[in-house]
Amino acid sequence: LHPVPKDIVISQACTPLPIERVALKAGLRSDEVIPWGRHKAKVDVRKVAERMKDAPDGSLVVVSGINPTPLGEGKSTTTIGVCQALGNCLGKHVVTTIRQPSQGPTFGIKGGAAGGGYSQVIPMEEFNLHMTGDIHAIVAANNLLAAALDARIFHESSQKDEALFNRLVPAKNGKRVPAPSQRARMERLGIKGEALDDAELLSPTDRVRFARLDVDPSTITWNRVLDTCDRFLRRIEVGRGPNERRTAEKYSFSSTRETGFDIAVASEIMAVLALASDLDDMRARLGRMAVARSRVDGPHKGAFVTADDVGCAGALTVLMKDALLPTLMQTIEGTPVLVHAGPFANIAHGNSSVVADKCGLKLCGEQGFVVTEAGFGADIGGEKFFDIKCRAGGLKPKCAVVVATVRALKLHGGAPPVVAGRPLPKEYSGEDLEVLGKGCANVAHHVACLSQKFNVRVVVAVNKFATDTPNELQLVREAGLRAGAHYAVVADHWAQGGHGAIDLAEAVVKACAADSTPFRYLYPLSDPVRSKIEAVCSKIYLAGEVTYSELAASQIDAYEAQGLGRLPICVAKTQYSLSTDPSKKGAPSGHTVNVREVRAAVGAGFLYLLCGDIMTVPGLPTRPGFVDIDLDTVNDRVIGLF
Ligand code: ADP
Repeated sequence: LHPVPKDIVISQACTPLPIERVALKAGLRSDEVIPWGRHKAKVDVRKVAERMKDAPDGSLVVVSGINPTPLGEGKSTTTIGVCQALGNCLGKHVVTTIRQPSQGPTFGIKGGAAGGGYSQVIPMEEFNLHMTGDIHAIVAANNLLAAALDARIFHESSQKDEALFNRLVPAKNGKRVPAPSQRARMERLGIKGEALDDAELLSPTDRVRFARLDVDPSTITWNRVLDTCDRFLRRIEVGRGPNERRTAEKYSFSSTRETGFDIAVASEIMAVLALASDLDDMRARLGRMAVARSRVDGPHKGAFVTADDVGCAGALTVLMKDALLPTLMQTIEGTPVLVHAGPFANIAHGNSSVVADKCGLKLCGEQGFVVTEAGFGADIGGEKFFDIKCRAGGLKPKCAVVVATVRALKLHGGAPPVVAGRPLPKEYSGEDLEVLGKGCANVAHHVACLSQKFNVRVVVAVNKFATDTPNELQLVREAGLRAGAHYAVVADHWAQGGHGAIDLAEAVVKACAADSTPFRYLYPLSDPVRSKIEAVCSKIYLAGEVTYSELAASQIDAYEAQGLGRLPICVAKTQYSLSTDPSKKGAPSGHTVNVREVRAAVGAGFLYLLCGDIMTVPGLPTRPGFVDIDLDTVNDRVIGLF
């Protein structure tokens, strides 16, 4: 239809296939699918992995993009559009693997992440809201750990050691034995042999060492989370209840401390979910998550306190076990989609899960394709896809699609800022090859990086907007090809669905089949932390220098001393520029990256660096999205959702 109707109108006008039919198309057997209503199902990845362990993998394609405007340049839309073309127009086996969006921004400023126009995952309301409850499971697990940690500090501060010990070790056959999660801690503390199975055999000193975590409250890094853009919870004080205060006064400690909330998808548990290879691995990663440090002058001498230490990782795994199963949904054109995980693209790696990609690669077969999306621009989501996700999952991508728009490249060429919720400035409406030509430096840089630094074949997808002129589209294509892209094509899937992305799908098929040197990572894990940081900053961000705050420098030294120096790094910076300054457009070079702070996501398995201002709970704007949303109660239909 012209003009293209609103996303929700298109989505609701489609009759989704029964999910069992989509499962069949995906190559799933009925016992591998757990229906979740009519249009969604959980996929038992363990069964699929077992059945197909010797089957060859299909080709993995990652969709990334240029540095975007705040409106988004269509990575999700292109991921879905190219799959519709591959599956429906070219008759290929294809599985799309994408992230579950955070519900918070759905009610705030950014639209959903189900794609748009005639390239969407449907039903888009179910995709954007709740889905199968995975994010709710993360909220429950994250906040259980937060509550457990605060309660532990409270009890340790207010009770005698022996009493605490009694509480922690359940009675069994009349004997006191350590809980499974406590055994791991005892082993780390060097408690061996019979003492491991029989708490009665521990010396009183060991009991105290074992029982007390001796957490230094000022070192707690574990925040509470929620899936709402509630700016008033960014900084809060906890522990103000009269009971806690009275007890604290009696035992001379402080029950209150400053902490804050993050958006649910920023929880390390989300990153763990996305990177875990199976249930065992998820259990181990959840147990390793570091939440604080013990007191430097105490018996544990400042060591990390983990979820296993708090005795909570088993319960977290129970809360998260169904969330480890990807959710099967479908595109408007009935091709299968695995929706799974959605880690925040800055403080985490911004990519959907390893298990969904691996499952998809088996299901689609040697001649088939898994198309996944990396959040933010190629400098952030793309780099992290290769260096963090592919490494964790042993994935070998064959081709990267770089989504570019005339609109964003004009911004990079010097056109005025684009503000979400406001009309585009007039400079964006007419043909302007000069500004666009300058802005093409941005797409050229991403293409060159992906093909030269990671050895993947690159296809540029120029996502066509109704206002783009043929000359403008041609200019972007040429810039992509000059920079080393295998192919550069115009794609019109937003307005035309799969048919609009046939050229793109054909380019992807040919790029995957082309001979080239194998994919490689940007840096080896064995490099010192600073070298890894400098590799990303100089080669990908074109920085001239990396500086470290005193805090960051001391943190890096401490992590290396603790054996965490071999982790990959995850830079948290703005997506709007290659640099850490969102106003620097195009392909700025020679700039300085200042590392403010370095944190360890030990369970997820990366060190993350805070560079520039990083927001972990978006705020609601003056005119948030929720004002348009309502329920047509007669027809039980959601209205106004994008
Ligand atoms: P990203 O994944 O890069 O953030 P999305 O695919 O979510 O971007 O697209 C952002 C918004 O732009 C969506 O509302 C989508 O419908 C819209 N959009 C994408 N491509 C086009 C296009 N070619 N024409 C008009 N609107 C588009």
